[in-house]
Amino acid sequence: MRELTIAWMYHDIMDLYGDKGNIIVFKKRCEDRGIKCNVVNVGIDEPYDFKNCDILFIGGGADKEQGVMYDDLAGRKESIVAAMNDGMLVLLICGGYQLFGKYYEDADGNKLEGLGIFDYYTVSDGKTRSIGNLVVEATLNGETIKVVGFENHGGKTYNVSKPFGKVLYGNGNEANGYEGYFDGRTLGTYMHGPLLPKNVLIADYFISEALKRHGDDGVLSQLNDELSIKARDYMIAKCLKNK
Ligand code: GLN
Repeated sequence: MRELTIAWMYHDIMDLYGDKGNIIVFKKRCEDRGIKCNVVNVGIDEPYDFKNCDILFIGGGADKEQGVMYDDLAGRKESIVAAMNDGMLVLLICGGYQLFGKYYEDADGNKLEGLGIFDYYTVSDGKTRSIGNLVVEATLNGETIKVVGFENHGGKTYNVSKPFGKVLYGNGNEANGYEGYFDGRTLGTYMHGPLLPKNVLIADYFISEALKRHGDDGVLSQLNDELSIKARDYMIAKCLKNK
């Protein structure tokens, strides 16, 4: 039987604007295809070896929650990096995305050290928040796609070497017109909403790549995505009309 494992980190505190919907979508799209999907909750102080993990997921969190979990995350760096070098996929939303970079400095000047796996860093000026829908043009499997989500963050992320896509509506990383980070294995994004129900191509990309790690061809049967596509197209059209 085809099988994959997702580590859902800090499920009890890092979960804003429906982020847990991403896990529900992963599970449902696997189950509809007869793929066993193990979701392991990894909370603070709960031991876990990422060598058994195909997809690491962290949702977003307010500054307070980030302050609670960042130490625990730092203590897992070695295990996470080893698994990433072995092909583990990583999906990070907002507060989770920020902490895989060098640091996150909040509006009061408190600096939370990130894992430093990527060179980007995030600073909140305390004056402006990016709140609202976000539409991005990105490339996935060589195809240009539009992705829609909801952002709500004070942090601005600078020095992103490989942005996920170009902002068509909303803010994204900072004022430079780009959003998120994507290198083919790790996707960090400001998109809550949650991300995957309206952007199922991204869910399937992760599922397919995770299966390939186990010698599988990664080919996925087509599901009926009519409603999801309608919801996505409706939101994108609404945003772009308001531009
Ligand atoms: N606390 C972070 C910020 O405001 C992340 C917020 C979030 O995850 N939505 O930038």
